[in-house]
Amino acid sequence: MQKQKLLDNSLNEAKILFESFGIKKFRASQIYDAIYQGKSLQDIKNIPQNDLKMIDEHFIVDIAKICKIQKSSDGTIKFAIKLADESIIETVLMSYTYGKTLCISTQVGCRMGCKFCASTIGGLVRNMSAGEILAQAIVVNAYLGGSKNNRQITNIVLMGCGEPLDNYEEVTKFIKLVEDKDFLNISQRNISLSTCGIAPNIYKLADDGFKVNLTISLHASNDEDRKKIMPIARKYSINEVLKACDYYFAHNNRRIYFEYTLVQGVNDSEKHIMELKNLLKSKVCHVNVIVLNEVAERSVKGVNRKQAQKFVDKLNSVGISATLRRTLGQDIDGACGQLRKRLGEND
Ligand code: SAH
Repeated sequence: MQKQKLLDNSLNEAKILFESFGIKKFRASQIYDAIYQGKSLQDIKNIPQNDLKMIDEHFIVDIAKICKIQKSSDGTIKFAIKLADESIIETVLMSYTYGKTLCISTQVGCRMGCKFCASTIGGLVRNMSAGEILAQAIVVNAYLGGSKNNRQITNIVLMGCGEPLDNYEEVTKFIKLVEDKDFLNISQRNISLSTCGIAPNIYKLADDGFKVNLTISLHASNDEDRKKIMPIARKYSINEVLKACDYYFAHNNRRIYFEYTLVQGVNDSEKHIMELKNLLKSKVCHVNVIVLNEVAERSVKGVNRKQAQKFVDKLNSVGISATLRRTLGQDIDGACGQLRKRLGEND
């Protein structure tokens, strides 16, 4: 019999399943409490051995384990996390004055092929399940001394490895799990989903009633230039993506964020500023301009912070709200676009 991942279930679902296997319902609460304290199955002492044996027969309980921790000089921490099938993904914790933001992965690898990003090197290995996506928050929350009723992480950004809207079912299930009052209780207002622009799934997200902050990796102001760096641009035009954003906005009034990583000679000219103005002037939005973080295997070049600040100033002067994103965790390859799947703990 195929074991299922326990964390893919809400607490109520787990209770029903436990009951069907002849285990008392309250054992589900006990086991979730333990998992949220960072314990693995063998560390659980308050559940009888025969129940634990039964649970182990039906479920994978230990689905994520921190296997490496790297600390940046700016306080950012990067975690390598090993999943039950030995895949290793990366998760990054950033500290801000308002709280702690966790940048989590949604796929092992990625198949989007963006020319500047490390996550897509080697392609997609597999989608992560909702429980595996959630487990990143659980293990880091426990690392910080938190538990089920003691939340240490305040915000979540789906900006790690993978394209969240290429794994729609599991990602949306994760959002429901993480906002569940029984769990970390992180509201959708504090969750940001970043996408390269899979337009149909932006409509779906709105239709399904989600209210997470939507961030679009735009990175160009016309389709021709976008196609040079983002293969997805061949499938969905900027206009199609922006229409989907309007639809999302009409459903929940959440300001849309656009990410714009400056790539030298591709998207950084005066012409691009004017095109951006025309595309975005009527929208309630904000542009995060990003300085390209270097990825060894990638040949694209970025601009320096001073040039990037100039680009931001010009956008502001034509009426587009924009800021230059702080770069965190660069010295540990934990910044935007530097996360990747790993082959082993020492990789
Ligand atoms: N697949 C999603 C989320 C992951 S990437 C998406 O495309 O939005 C998170 C952000 O980092 C995206 O805006 C991405 O385009 C950007 N990014 C990727 N590689 C980068 C790099 N080398 N330097 C700076 N930003 C990068």
